[in-house]
Formats: sequence, structure tokens, C-alpha cells
Amino acid sequence: MLVKVNSQELLEQAASDYGYEDVLEMFEASMFDSTCPAICTECGYTTDYEPDQDRGWCEDCGKNTVVSVLVLGGII
Ligand SMILES: [Zn+2]
Repeated sequence: MLVKVNSQELLEQAASDYGYEDVLEMFEASMFDSTCPAICTECGYTTDYEPDQDRGWCEDCGKNTVVSVLVLGGII
């Protein structure tokens, strides 16, 4: 998958959208949940997806460009 923008920036944006202090706190919280924050690699739209999602539907772009933060961060 081609990530056009810096994945670290996307992770930080997702963390702030979800009200986490930082990316690490978001990872820790997400690992024990059935859904986790996911972010569109095209537009930065955030939504909940399965932790292993790597091509979720973006309501904003109309494309399968949403990746879970755990996948984006290389955690799983
Ligand atoms: Zn999008």
C-alpha cells in the first residue's frame, strides 16, 4: 500500500482526534479493544475500524483508504 503522507503525522492526528495524550497511549488503549481508531491516508478522516483493517472505506473520499492506527504504526 502506498502511503502518500507521513504516517507519523496521521497517527498524531488520530490520537488528538480521539483525545489521547499521545500516539503510544492510543496504541495501548486500542490493543485491548475490538475496534480501534483508524484514519484515512488520503484526507485524514478518522473513524472506528477493526484493529487489522488496512483498506477501510472512507466516507469522505469514497475510497478504501482507511487504515487502523495499529496497522499504520506497524504494531500488528
Ligand atoms: Zn478519505
